[in-house]
Amino acid sequence: MRKMIVAANWKMNLTLAEGRQLVEGILAGLPELNNEKEVVISSPFVHIAQTMGQLKGKSHIYTGAQNCAAEAAGAYTGEVSAAMLKDAGVAYVIIGHSERREYYKEDNATITKKVNLALANGLQVLFCCGEALEVRDANTQNAFVEGQIQDSLFHLDAAQLKNITIAYEPIWAIGTGRTASSAQAQEMHAHIRSVIAGKFGNEAANEMSILYGGSCKPSNADELFACADVDGGLIGGAALKAEEFLGIINAMKNAKK
Ligand code: PEP
Repeated sequence: MRKMIVAANWKMNLTLAEGRQLVEGILAGLPELNNEKEVVISSPFVHIAQTMGQLKGKSHIYTGAQNCAAEAAGAYTGEVSAAMLKDAGVAYVIIGHSERREYYKEDNATITKKVNLALANGLQVLFCCGEALEVRDANTQNAFVEGQIQDSLFHLDAAQLKNITIAYEPIWAIGTGRTASSAQAQEMHAHIRSVIAGKFGNEAANEMSILYGGSCKPSNADELFACADVDGGLIGGAALKAEEFLGIINAMKNAKK
């Protein structure tokens, strides 16, 4: 049975006090979820200890990080290792977000090293992929996304793959207010599942959770989550307000899956 997941990506936002208040608001309104549905809060590193404390003893809601280093340990000033995240109690780490790829020049090789380290340290990976507008306009998005998955995930074995969740995030829809239509999302998610099936088999593909990211909000979450191959969302802007994030969590709860 594959899981549905709604994961917040706070990016570089919120003071500690604001983060605490946001998590309080989410916990106050969090609906009861069954075992196949979960929520992840991916905060900046400095929030992790506080968020961990707030989520202690709660079920179906986990702490995430937004990045990890591409090296295991050592003289890498400013970096945070996968081992440190695991030690801090983090469950999930976002790897390959388009903002990391674009602003910090992370290529598929770097992202692959991060995936390997995260898995070696027992973290769940939220692996982001997705095309820029020019790729979509040239109608080459399927091959582009397939290339990202091939380069960073195809070397994994079946057991490792179980700890990967894919987030499809068309770059032209991130933070722009422009959402992929549910038909565009479903088409790409089905393609991603077929890419996974081609390499790892149908069972692994069926178990893979594939999240949509890109201006997902309460007003479009129901429609997106109703798509057969959309298993939840990675949420940026709408995760910064408890009410909006809870609206998306409720869309996941109500999705007939
Ligand atoms: C993201 O950056 O992961 C994202 C989906 O952002 P937004 O929801 O703001 O488009």
